[in-house]
Amino acid sequence: MSSNSLVIIGNGMASNRVLEELGTDHPFHTIHVLSDEAIAHYNRIMLSPLLGGETSLEAITPHQPDWYDEHRVRIHLNTRVDFINVQEQRVVCSDGAEFPYQALIIATGSRSFIPAMNGSDADNVIGFRAMSDVDVMLRQLPAMRHATVIGAGLLGVEAATGLRSHGVDVTLIHRNPVLMNRQLDATASSLLEAELIRRDIDVKAGCNPHTMQEIQRDQQRLVTSVTVNIEGHDQCVMTDLVVFATGITPNKEIAAISGLTCNHGIVVNNRMQTSAGHIYALGECCEFDGNTYGLVAPIWDQAKVLADTLLRQYGSAATPERPQDKSAHYTERQHLTKLKVSGVDIHSIGQYEADDDTEVLQLLDRYDGVYRKVLLKQNKVVGALFVGDVSDSSWYHELMTDDCDVGDIRVNLLFGRTACAR
Ligand SMILES: Cc1cc2nc3c(=O)[nH]c(=O)nc-3n(C[C@H](O)[C@H](O)[C@H](O)COP(=O)(O)OP(=O)(O)OC[C@H]3O[C@@H](n4cnc5c(N)ncnc54)[C@H](O)[C@@H]3O)c2cc1C
Repeated sequence: MSSNSLVIIGNGMASNRVLEELGTDHPFHTIHVLSDEAIAHYNRIMLSPLLGGETSLEAITPHQPDWYDEHRVRIHLNTRVDFINVQEQRVVCSDGAEFPYQALIIATGSRSFIPAMNGSDADNVIGFRAMSDVDVMLRQLPAMRHATVIGAGLLGVEAATGLRSHGVDVTLIHRNPVLMNRQLDATASSLLEAELIRRDIDVKAGCNPHTMQEIQRDQQRLVTSVTVNIEGHDQCVMTDLVVFATGITPNKEIAAISGLTCNHGIVVNNRMQTSAGHIYALGECCEFDGNTYGLVAPIWDQAKVLADTLLRQYGSAATPERPQDKSAHYTERQHLTKLKVSGVDIHSIGQYEADDDTEVLQLLDRYDGVYRKVLLKQNKVVGALFVGDVSDSSWYHELMTDDCDVGDIRVNLLFGRTACAR
């Protein structure tokens, strides 16, 4: 095996984006991608429509074998990396295989956080992270009467609606009274909740997690029921499956045991370099400036920066002259978050709750389920929230990222781009 190799640990969204950014003219003899999953790279964010039966695994698998050949990429499936020998520049896998590297990228993502509570180790308690989780859900569907989804963030809402679309009774449990409370205010949440109830999803919001302690299971280690405490009263929900969507934990362990600096994630600088020479990290496993990640938009920015870093550091036949002062640096930006449930349009950007120096413009039509809220500071957009009609959300996002003064259009601002152009 040539040591003029780039090795990438992980075959998820970040890893594939870097391959796309590096293109075919990269300076490496071979790029080895080591994946602990059993199947080729797929678009993870499309697992929700896949669960809902709206797409297929084939349709969300972007690259075919000839694409990898053209890019001089070798994919090693079922290959879990256990350790990085930083001194000797090689990675060690659990099956004993070793891969020497000239440069190494850690793109191990994160895993579902499943809190330690009685019964949470039952066989049909799962996260919602990988194709293997969707396989478990789809396999159990014929015998499943009821599923419980714990956590009504973006993932939990998508899991609940996906399961419900197969006719399964679903209870969606959330600690906060506001659903998707990282992206929505109480008004937007109430519209979402009304739509979920209309779909016959049993929504239990405002449950105290400290009293939601019990998952009961039978002798076959299968869940039978979940006890939740709502407003001081214990309720027992009979169920056949529990899906936890209560957050994610960065997969930083192999970096930590190999001596790389880690905090919540693997610490990187603004060129995506870790504390060790020739080792880089990006995606949900990394931490930059105290931030960790849970959405793809910042990861696309990181992949661009990392490809630029590698092409400068290791040279590229096609791009020999890359002026140092033009090198890319990663910076944080505000991104648009979209809920992907067909029939429920929700977009959210930046700040969504007012503080002392924020002005709020809002429009609410409960009958049609339309809500639009724009937050301003000194005539600049600092956040926006859209339910029902999301047609102009990208335009509001642009106004915000371009730091536009909206003083001249604020009288029409809530009514969208066309109204403001008049
Ligand atoms: C169902 C679902 C829906 C989502 N929807 C959205 C959305 O609408 N919008 C959005 O922006 N984001 C969404 N996300 C989040 C998005 O998918 C993640 O932000 C993105 O996948 C992170 O990319 P990553 O490469 O860092 O991690 P991943 O895509 O998870 O890839 C990491 C890979 O590394 C592998 N790995 C880990 N450890 C090892 C090891 N030791 N050895 C070998 N391989 C290893 C993992 O198995 C995995 O294949 C969604 C996520 C899920 C699960």
